[in-house]
Amino acid sequence: MNGAGRACEGGVNELKANVGDGAPLLPCSMLPQMTAPHFTPDPAVLQAVRGAYARYEKAAGRFLTDFTAQGGAVHCAAGCFGCCNMPIRLSLAEAALVASVLSPEEARRVEKHARKVLHNARTAPNEDEYVKRHRLKVGYCPLLGPDGACTRYEVRPTRCRDTFSAFPAVYCQEGTWEGMNAHEKRDYAREVRRTPGTDGETHFIAPLEEMSEPVWTRCAQIMRQRWGLEAWGDFWVLTTLAASPAFMAAVERGERGAAIREARKLGLDHETVLEFS
Ligand code: SF4
Repeated sequence: MNGAGRACEGGVNELKANVGDGAPLLPCSMLPQMTAPHFTPDPAVLQAVRGAYARYEKAAGRFLTDFTAQGGAVHCAAGCFGCCNMPIRLSLAEAALVASVLSPEEARRVEKHARKVLHNARTAPNEDEYVKRHRLKVGYCPLLGPDGACTRYEVRPTRCRDTFSAFPAVYCQEGTWEGMNAHEKRDYAREVRRTPGTDGETHFIAPLEEMSEPVWTRCAQIMRQRWGLEAWGDFWVLTTLAASPAFMAAVERGERGAAIREARKLGLDHETVLEFS
């Protein structure tokens, strides 16, 4: 999920068709919609997030150059989107950056997606099922373009930046792991253990995830400095909330309770997708 995606077998429409294109779990007409005008974000917050992303990109670029020069494999490439239907967690500071660039139409699609996420959070019996339903029913990120590329690559969240696969894209797609028999899972585990760059348990390139830690730290710091609190949660829910003047006014006053009440009014509050500290 490095934003440009990888060269998956089959096109985006084929893959979306295979998983039902994230069919809504509830008719959207049954859900409350955002009516408030768009919020103008704090430029200091946006600048801090952009700066943290730029530092990460530089460090990750250096790592990738050395890693591939030493024979390490990276299977992520333009046009691949195999992991763009994973749940994504981010900070409200990052969500504010995404919200700041979305067109009204994009914001509507993100909000629609957020409401599917909410329904999943309220009904999934456990975390495994939450992830599975997210991939199969909530579906692909609404910022994924028809060509399989990220349409908001420049502001994509940290998780979209630090997820790189050392295995071909099929291993990132939903159902691949679940569809393996015991013998295939043993082969997979053995192959992961001997593949450079993995943590020995999954096929993702571990150092790139570890290198993004300073981004999380900087986001936490800027939220504390500007708002006196930290807010973390689901990508699409927080992006929708970051555009709400009432929610963000409460956040900027450092009033966690008032922010939760505003999220509740919008039907976007649930501990799985919105968390304050
Ligand atoms: S923002 Fe959406 S489309 Fe872009 S890389 Fe992340 S999940 Fe994929």
